[in-house]
Amino acid sequence: MQLDHVEYEVEGQVGVITLNRPEAANAQNMKVLMELDSAWRRADEDPGVKVIVLRSNGKHFSAGHDMTGSDTVAGKPISDVITTPEGHYDWETRHYLHYAKSWREVPKPSIAAVQGKCIAAGLMLCWPCDLIVAADNAEFSDPVLYMGICGVELHAHTWEFGARKAKEILFTGGSITAEEAREVGMVNKVVPLDELMTSTMALAERIAQQDAFALRMAKRAVNHTLDIQGYTTAIDSIFDMHHFGHTRARVVNDGYPSLAGLSSMKEKGKGEGQ
Ligand code: ZN
Repeated sequence: MQLDHVEYEVEGQVGVITLNRPEAANAQNMKVLMELDSAWRRADEDPGVKVIVLRSNGKHFSAGHDMTGSDTVAGKPISDVITTPEGHYDWETRHYLHYAKSWREVPKPSIAAVQGKCIAAGLMLCWPCDLIVAADNAEFSDPVLYMGICGVELHAHTWEFGARKAKEILFTGGSITAEEAREVGMVNKVVPLDELMTSTMALAERIAQQDAFALRMAKRAVNHTLDIQGYTTAIDSIFDMHHFGHTRARVVNDGYPSLAGLSSMKEKGKGEGQ
């Protein structure tokens, strides 16, 4: 696949995936997601790669899904192609939920390096990684309640933030800092912005000294424990709630997809720097 918005390179035993769309705050359209998935597959399949690092160029890690209408299918806007609730459900299952879940399942350790804002679907890029290193200017938020939806497609909030913090972040649409994210266990370490990559690569190289199969089994052990606790089952069922939100918004607002809350989200963003 031709990579236009994503770079992939191997440094020693570390495969480095770089989201490179800084002019759009690394917003994700379908091409970006497909390119990211292609890079994840290359890192997974390369026997010389033991650890995967996911990073972004620019000020912000990712502003979430691209809401500018840049996505097209056969030259038409997606909203002209996906005209039914079931079509939308199928689309987001295949392209949003599936990617995030499958990146989590890549059997090699992965580390996300996050700087600046990580908004909504931005979380669906870093949460599937095993470890998260955050720059001290990182902020995490999921303000999609303004669209009448219970959160982004991958409901890992409760696991990642803890139940009360998850509710606070969702209810208010506010953000938490890198340090707060570290305190609740979502982020492994917080480092100065200018040390983000050196610190992340040092961690990756240290992990790469371990036996590859032992790393694979250690990752599997933790993920399997989360799954026994209901992680994947909860995510799959809450995805349906997410889609009831989409469908209701479509009916209530007579638009598709409903972006009725987007203006208030943007207004709020001006005030809170989201
Ligand atoms: Zn959605």
